[in-house]
Amino acid sequence: MKIIVIGSGFGGLAAAIRLQAQGHQVTILEKRDKTGGRAYVYEQDGFVFDGGPTIITAPWLIDELFEIAGKKTSDYVELVKIDPFYNIRWEDGSIFNYNDDKENLLEQIRKIAPDEIENYKRFAKDLGEIYRVGFDLIDKPFHTVGSMLKVVPQMVKLRSDKSVYKFASKYFKNEKLREAFSFHPLLIGGNPFTSTSIYAMIHELEQKFGVWFAMGGTGALVRALSDLFQDIGGEICLETEVSEISIDEKRKANGAKLKSGEFIEADAVVSNADVAFTYLNLIPEKFRRKYTDKKVKRMTYSMSLFVIYFGTNRKYENMAHHEIIMGKRYRGLLNDIFVNKTLSEDFSLYLHRPTATDESLAPDGCDSWYVLSPVPHLGATIDWKTQAKPYRNSIINYLEKNYMPELSKHIVSEHYIDPLHFEGTLNSYLGSAFSVEPTLFQSAYLRPHNRSEDIPNLYFVGAGTHPGAGMPGVISSGKIVGNLIGRNV
Ligand SMILES: Cc1cc2nc3c(=O)[nH]c(=O)nc-3n(C[C@H](O)[C@H](O)[C@H](O)COP(=O)(O)OP(=O)(O)OC[C@H]3O[C@@H](n4cnc5c(N)ncnc54)[C@H](O)[C@@H]3O)c2cc1C
Repeated sequence: MKIIVIGSGFGGLAAAIRLQAQGHQVTILEKRDKTGGRAYVYEQDGFVFDGGPTIITAPWLIDELFEIAGKKTSDYVELVKIDPFYNIRWEDGSIFNYNDDKENLLEQIRKIAPDEIENYKRFAKDLGEIYRVGFDLIDKPFHTVGSMLKVVPQMVKLRSDKSVYKFASKYFKNEKLREAFSFHPLLIGGNPFTSTSIYAMIHELEQKFGVWFAMGGTGALVRALSDLFQDIGGEICLETEVSEISIDEKRKANGAKLKSGEFIEADAVVSNADVAFTYLNLIPEKFRRKYTDKKVKRMTYSMSLFVIYFGTNRKYENMAHHEIIMGKRYRGLLNDIFVNKTLSEDFSLYLHRPTATDESLAPDGCDSWYVLSPVPHLGATIDWKTQAKPYRNSIINYLEKNYMPELSKHIVSEHYIDPLHFEGTLNSYLGSAFSVEPTLFQSAYLRPHNRSEDIPNLYFVGAGTHPGAGMPGVISSGKIVGNLIGRNV
């Protein structure tokens, strides 16, 4: 079959590689001038800044893509396991140095709350069961009621209705430990106070398989997957924006209309563009019985992000590759972001210093960075045209005061993005950074399916579809669609 994949995020690349390896003729149509989607790379003043994902988990999902194409990951890109996975820092100066060395983990817990060691052991044991059930769902299509009914008893038993924070609080009394073992949903756009406790399994995933980094940055992994796809005969068209998925009178997708006016024919279409954007903008409403505009707008969406990419003309060796910087408030801040939708004066940050692992990403003696702050999506009434600059200043001042002396003096290259970037450049509904929010009622069968309910040869991959955001999730959505189309041939 001739198959079009709209978008070249990790979900689109994964689907495209699988379909091309099955023998289909696959063409990726990408709006931007480079592949990668949220993993876009900015290169300026000798610095290389990965635009989005940096924490690689479940590396075997990447290996699988090379294997099904008859190749080896190491021939295309070097993945290295990093240590520590990350530091979690609080304003009182305490640091939780997090990796997969059990003795170290227990020591870190002992430093914070010596009487909670046994609590961690019970937490880790119970997580094993959640992981076993949860991770099993990640590459299965959930497009029938039957598929959902099969897992409901296990989800009830595991109390998936509880939030990740509530789950962590069942074991830990100390607030810092509750934060350290519940913040993970934020990595995939979820509020720890409302995301289903299934997502607590990310801790187990990291413990079992580690946290990895692609030498050369995540961009090197994007290039590796793009090269792999082309090496096996796939075609990538950059700066090619789709304006409509064409559907014939038999309600089958037969190609894509481009913004340029061109038409590209296909036997099947896979959309990796944000699922809400795809429904609202690329498929005329008359063809949508299930995902009407009203239904799409009624779903809830993850937060957005404010990200500053910057280069310093000195190194800050005290900072690890990944730093999670907890602010003054945890629940209150998350409430402001997800519920009240206001821009707070305080923040919690994720700080990325890839030069801790790969010095080639900055000129000699320099560090390459990004700092990310979760902020409300565009459903809030924040005027980013006027707020972005002062918000940027307060983040840099905060880092300078607490962690990185004289930072502003040492910044020699800089670029920042706000929710308007996610909406305008990445075509994400409401400028959400992770698409559909990962709540219990928007997960598995209840999340947008990987095959359209209305158009049988139209498929969806990426963050807003099942299983959800994050590299393991979107790469798995590519696997699901590869299997669904494979079976349909
Ligand atoms: C700052 C940031 C940090 C993150 N950190 C991590 C992390 O450390 N680890 C992790 O696992 N995950 C992380 N994530 C989440 C992860 O990056 C995403 O969930 C994942 O990359 C999304 O992939 P996707 O397949 O949904 O496609 P996307 O990356 O959303 O790409 C979609 C593509 O579709 C294209 N497109 C849209 N509309 C059209 C159109 N009409 N025509 C043609 N092309 C179109 C877009 O240009 C884009 O290239 C992070 C996300 C962000 C934003």
